[in-house]
Amino acid sequence: MSTLMAGAMSVVLYSAYLSFPSEIKGLDYWAAGLILLALGAVLFSLRNSTSGQAIILLCANSTLIWGVGLAMIGTQKFYDRKPAWWLFHLVWACAMLGVGYWLVIQPHFSARVAVFSFLISIFYLNQVAMAWRYGERHFSTIFFGILMLLQTLVVLTRGLLAVFYGGAQVNLTSIGPFQSIYLAAGHFMVLLLAVSFKAVATRRLQTILERRSTLDPLTQVLNRRGFADIYAKEHALLRRESTAMTMLSIDLDYFKKINDCHGHATGDRVLVDVAAVIGKALRVSDHVARFGGEEFIVLLPTTGLDRAHHIAERILLAVREPGRDGLPTYTVSIGIACQTSADEDLDGILMRADEALYSAKERGRNRIEIASMPIPPLRAVPA
Ligand code: GH3
Ligand code: MG
Ligand code: MG
Repeated sequence: MSTLMAGAMSVVLYSAYLSFPSEIKGLDYWAAGLILLALGAVLFSLRNSTSGQAIILLCANSTLIWGVGLAMIGTQKFYDRKPAWWLFHLVWACAMLGVGYWLVIQPHFSARVAVFSFLISIFYLNQVAMAWRYGERHFSTIFFGILMLLQTLVVLTRGLLAVFYGGAQVNLTSIGPFQSIYLAAGHFMVLLLAVSFKAVATRRLQTILERRSTLDPLTQVLNRRGFADIYAKEHALLRRESTAMTMLSIDLDYFKKINDCHGHATGDRVLVDVAAVIGKALRVSDHVARFGGEEFIVLLPTTGLDRAHHIAERILLAVREPGRDGLPTYTVSIGIACQTSADEDLDGILMRADEALYSAKERGRNRIEIASMPIPPLRAVPA
């Protein structure tokens, strides 16, 4: 039963590995680990029907340790940690020495069970720690972490029973309450742990796709959609707290010439460069977006015109500096529009910032222009 479950879940995780983005790591190690667990279970079932029992038992123990160890490496890769291969090999080598000694040189069943249980619990415990330290605070991680912890406790309990009560309590071929719990946990945990790891990976996939849908793939700044979401939040804040926010509309000057003279690839590098230069001039609370082509929009929350003008000047000067990363020298024009009333919407402030930008272009480019404030709507005068 556990062989079938491990085999089936290995296929599920391997197909996820093939179809998920490569940023989601570790699924392949989990798939390989599950195959080894299935193989280990098959080897255990062969131990009575062959003459080389000791060899078969050693192979089975080693295969199981490798299986759980590979899952641990998979979890470490998933959380972008350096895989602890040293731990994998250390635990495996110690297990082989211990199990081999108490199997061949001085046969002792409960000592074998104890050493195997304590050593393999290191792999489980390591994954509990990974989920705790690096996991997102989300249901899927909590589910995964709790299951790993339960599995650690079950395996440790088996080791302790082997130490204190001897072989009868932990011999899985005999019948008893602990044997039933351990076997049930063994059967279902393979399935549940693999399902919970898949849930954690699927959650990661969802986060990546959500982020991708709001980011510009070339420059990694916000796209229009991401910017609209951010603006809506800042607009709500402005309505509540009656502060001001300012928008910069930034457009590269004669960008077409850069493409024509240096090629489209260099043009792309210039776009990445300008996004980086703008980003460096901003505070963490500011937002930058690419609105198609070579136009960038910056939103400066709780910022009035003076400070916004200062930031725009910083960008203008930083961009002008020649020879960054071997790129051609280029300049930008900037239009500034300040919003003090929540009555104006995104289209309104964007239109004013763009008008200021066109006026900067008309007046010779490589300069900053400020938009006039919007005309407040006429209110009916009571008679
Ligand atoms: P101006 O100073 O008036 O803004 O002139 P400009 O040449 O910068 O503006 P124009 O609108 O004439 O040309 C914009 C160019 O930007 C045309 C288009 O090929 C190029 N462009 C748009 N998107 C991309 C892109 O993603 N990569 C590259 N390399 N070029 C792009
Ligand atoms: Mg341009
Ligand atoms: Mg343009």
